[in-house]
Amino acid sequence: MTVYNFSAGPAVLPKPVLEKAQAELVNYQGSEMSVMEMSHRSSLFDNIIKEAEKLLREIMGIPDNYKVLFLQGGASLQFSMIPLNLAVGKKALYVNTGAWAKKAISAAKAIDGVEVEVIASSEDKNFTYVPEITKDMVDQEAAYVHITTNETIGGISYQTIPDVGDVPIVADMSSNILANNYKVEDFGLIYAGAQKNIGPSGLTVVIIREDLLNKEPIFSPMLDFAVQAANDSLYNTPPTYAIYIAKLVFEWIQELGGLQEIVKRDQEKAALLYDAIDASNLFISPVDKNYRSLTNIPFVTGDEELDKKFNQEALAQGFQNLKGHRSVGGMRASLYNAFPKEGVEELVAFMKKFEDENGE
Ligand code: PLP
Repeated sequence: MTVYNFSAGPAVLPKPVLEKAQAELVNYQGSEMSVMEMSHRSSLFDNIIKEAEKLLREIMGIPDNYKVLFLQGGASLQFSMIPLNLAVGKKALYVNTGAWAKKAISAAKAIDGVEVEVIASSEDKNFTYVPEITKDMVDQEAAYVHITTNETIGGISYQTIPDVGDVPIVADMSSNILANNYKVEDFGLIYAGAQKNIGPSGLTVVIIREDLLNKEPIFSPMLDFAVQAANDSLYNTPPTYAIYIAKLVFEWIQELGGLQEIVKRDQEKAALLYDAIDASNLFISPVDKNYRSLTNIPFVTGDEELDKKFNQEALAQGFQNLKGHRSVGGMRASLYNAFPKEGVEELVAFMKKFEDENGE
């Protein structure tokens, strides 16, 4: 039986990447060492981290006045680290689009000296859309406006990045980094946990415009973006193996034709599933069509028992991790970059069969 992994994260990695890692596991490029065993200060690892950064810069078109940091602690640590570095003694503005935005907001509120203001929310419609932000809603003295470009649980995403004037936009891009057409220069800071489109969990990527780095050190060097940047992410031992896998993933993206090609594939995969949902009399997408995520696609039948039956039968057919997040219920298909198109085609065929057997 073919297994398709619809997990929201950690998520499916490209097979060629895993195979290359397997081939190099014990003896990396004739070194007689695994990457896992190498000093992070060795020239071999230095090449890996530099190449990973170079590739990410090429793929995302990251301008020279941005630093790329390979950190730890997940996107969740960034929820605290960002206000700590950027907003103490200032106001930080947040857009509340769902579960992840809420976590970012509550972490920022816990930092002394940061005044948090939620300038827009889609809670009125259970986070099924992205609220519009205009420049006049944004205090131009604020440290930043925080957005969550893709809500992994709710399945909504920004189709375009709002114009907020001169205030930097800080974006949690965990679940749609490398799966969008955004421009890095529209952001002051982008952060993402790696475990969806980049590589193994444990690695967190931060892309920060240089003028946002601290001038004065903060209490903890590990939590200080300026210290991490000055040390090229080698202030302490970074997650070396995860960085190596990320490098292989970036190579895989480049070999496929870069971001444009990846996004095209993601759009095709998502369209297959959305079209099937829209054509169905059984399955419904709870999300406003204008804000549908390419990477996380929730759907429901409207009947909890039927959802449960679907999930059980789907699992038996090898469709793994399709069960919706416990806070939403129903189903959720996460179609990240490495998820194969055939998996979506087979899911759609299975949904049609289920509808024939269980629909009105
Ligand atoms: N932000 C978003 C949008 C996420 O999807 C997740 C995890 O799924 C997180 C933040 C938290 O990431 P981490 O587990 O790396 O802390």
